[in-house]
Amino acid sequence: MIGRYRESGGFRSLFRSRDVLRTALAGALAAAGLGADNLLASPPAWVAALPLASLVLTGGPIIAGAARGLARLRSNVDELVSIAIVATLVLGEYNSAAVVAFIMTLGGLIEEYTSDRARRAIESVMRSQPLTALMVEDGVEREAPVSSVEAGSTVRIRPGEVIPLDGTVCRGETCVDESSVTGEPLPGAKAPGDYVLSGTLNAEGCIDVTVSRPARDGTIARIARLIDEAESHRPRVLRVSERYARWFTPVILLLAAATWLATGDPVRAVTVLIVGCPCAFVLATPTAVVAALGAAARMGLMVKGGKFLEAAGEVDQVDFDKTGTLTEAQFEVARVWSAGNLTGDEVVAAAAGAEFGSEHPIGRAIVEEAGKRGIRPPVEITDFAAEKGMGVRAGDVLVGNRRLMEMHGVEIGRSPLDRADAHQGEGMTTLFVALKGAVIGLISIRDRIRPEAPSVIAEIRAMGMRVRLLTGDHAEPARAAAAAAGVDEVRASMLPGDKQIAVRESAGLGRRVAFVGDGANDGPALAEAHVGVSLASRRNNVALETADAVLMDGGLGRLPFLFEIGRRTRRTIMQNLLFFGLAFNAAMISLSALGVLSPVLGALAHNAGSVLVVLNSARLLRLGRVPLGRPGCPADAAARAA
Ligand code: ADP
Ligand code: MG
Repeated sequence: MIGRYRESGGFRSLFRSRDVLRTALAGALAAAGLGADNLLASPPAWVAALPLASLVLTGGPIIAGAARGLARLRSNVDELVSIAIVATLVLGEYNSAAVVAFIMTLGGLIEEYTSDRARRAIESVMRSQPLTALMVEDGVEREAPVSSVEAGSTVRIRPGEVIPLDGTVCRGETCVDESSVTGEPLPGAKAPGDYVLSGTLNAEGCIDVTVSRPARDGTIARIARLIDEAESHRPRVLRVSERYARWFTPVILLLAAATWLATGDPVRAVTVLIVGCPCAFVLATPTAVVAALGAAARMGLMVKGGKFLEAAGEVDQVDFDKTGTLTEAQFEVARVWSAGNLTGDEVVAAAAGAEFGSEHPIGRAIVEEAGKRGIRPPVEITDFAAEKGMGVRAGDVLVGNRRLMEMHGVEIGRSPLDRADAHQGEGMTTLFVALKGAVIGLISIRDRIRPEAPSVIAEIRAMGMRVRLLTGDHAEPARAAAAAAGVDEVRASMLPGDKQIAVRESAGLGRRVAFVGDGANDGPALAEAHVGVSLASRRNNVALETADAVLMDGGLGRLPFLFEIGRRTRRTIMQNLLFFGLAFNAAMISLSALGVLSPVLGALAHNAGSVLVVLNSARLLRLGRVPLGRPGCPADAAARAA
């Protein structure tokens, strides 16, 4: 029964074979009792023991569940059925009582089984993790428990093995199947320097990986935590329907009493109690949510709970961050310009020294550029500070946008400004580098629009949503990116707090805003939005925790699916509530009061309603079946060669 089913901690309880055996035995006993009663001319007295024995097996737990609920002063749906069973017994209808209890128990099992399948779809994301890793120390291999491997160690992964820990490939080349985490069906090529995720499958070659995080902080461990969390964020409709469910019991009791008074037939009243049980109503939301979360997980879309799924279905405006979100997270320094008598290398060296501790993609691009030029940035970094949405400061070096320079009172001369305007006119993001209060050069970075961005934005628009670009970058590159991606509303030069305010203003106008960001300088906006969506970044996992939904493949491709499945989930819940929860139940109650349904037929009809709810919700699971293509291993390899 649902009472027990929900007691057991959400949908975690697995399909227990003991329950199946117990129910089967109860079914056999009830059938034997029914058969003996109907086939034998004068059944011996012991035949009455058959339905009673059956009732002990199925009715017992239902009544115990109701008693437990009452003891905690929480009405649950077992009560109505319990009263019905007891009343049927009092009326001397042992066989009916046994059959009703059996059908209700069987219905509960079917519901549980169907919902479990949805749960398992979510759990399949967490492919069985290896327990040991093959560590390599000074060229010697040693088997060690995964939990004991620390960051910085080297582990070897042979073809066909599941990657035990997150890290960077340091030797060897291979193809990795990441479908278990990102939903990406095609394996991707991995070479030294590439990041690999725990829980993904090494498909081809033997690789050595430098571990970047111990297992407890790894991607899989975090996803597991997110999914656990997902169940605690229950959707609003669920809370509403639970409130109504509390009203159900007294209302149905009154209806049953009224039926008895009006017709004088206690059997009809008992039938009203059986069909009036709000099982379908209670199941309407959780089944839909679990199925949708499962479908989303299979598509590489982690949604942190039903609440956010519901919210995604309501979204009518999508605000995008630019750097690292609409544009690729990986970008390159395109131009370096130096003022006065410095060389470009000296400008890059100063900037890279300041950016050394930066998590921002811009900072990483500058540090990488220094590496490419063979420049070693000064190791000693004095008082590094990230100036959110503007740049960084380390010692007397400043790297960042115009605003940062203005804030620190740095005069930008005519020629750096002209140069910056020219670079920005080409759509580049331009950073000033200042030393001791004077601009010493410019570094311009070209960020490419993600290839999928224009089609994703077109799709979102076609779904009737308004799209905006909110960026901390200057107006020129912002406009260039917006034009390339097909966004026509742009707001530039925004600090993280400005983005948050922009989201809040739209919300104040009654809009439901989704904010899509990469977690760098947009945390406040992600938190403020109706739904915060972030892109999983392989280098830092922060995005996983700050957002309500995470695009696990690190691209935008799955974004329309998030809104789509949100909308479908809402629709499914409404269908479940209105059609099965209310209309179907009301019809069954009327038929019972009119005497059309017997208690046994009532139990059948009632459970059919619940099972239909579960099946209707399970349709959502199918949404996760369409794989979205992205260049995989062969194309990647070709791109590398080119
Ligand atoms: P977006 O809103 O487009 O994602 P951010 O808010 O992350 O951009 O950054 C806004 C601007 O701040 C960047 O365009 C850049 O000029 C400057 N900036 C941010 N972080 C850094 C950094 N680590 N180094 C230099 N400049 C930075
Ligand atoms: Mg950003």
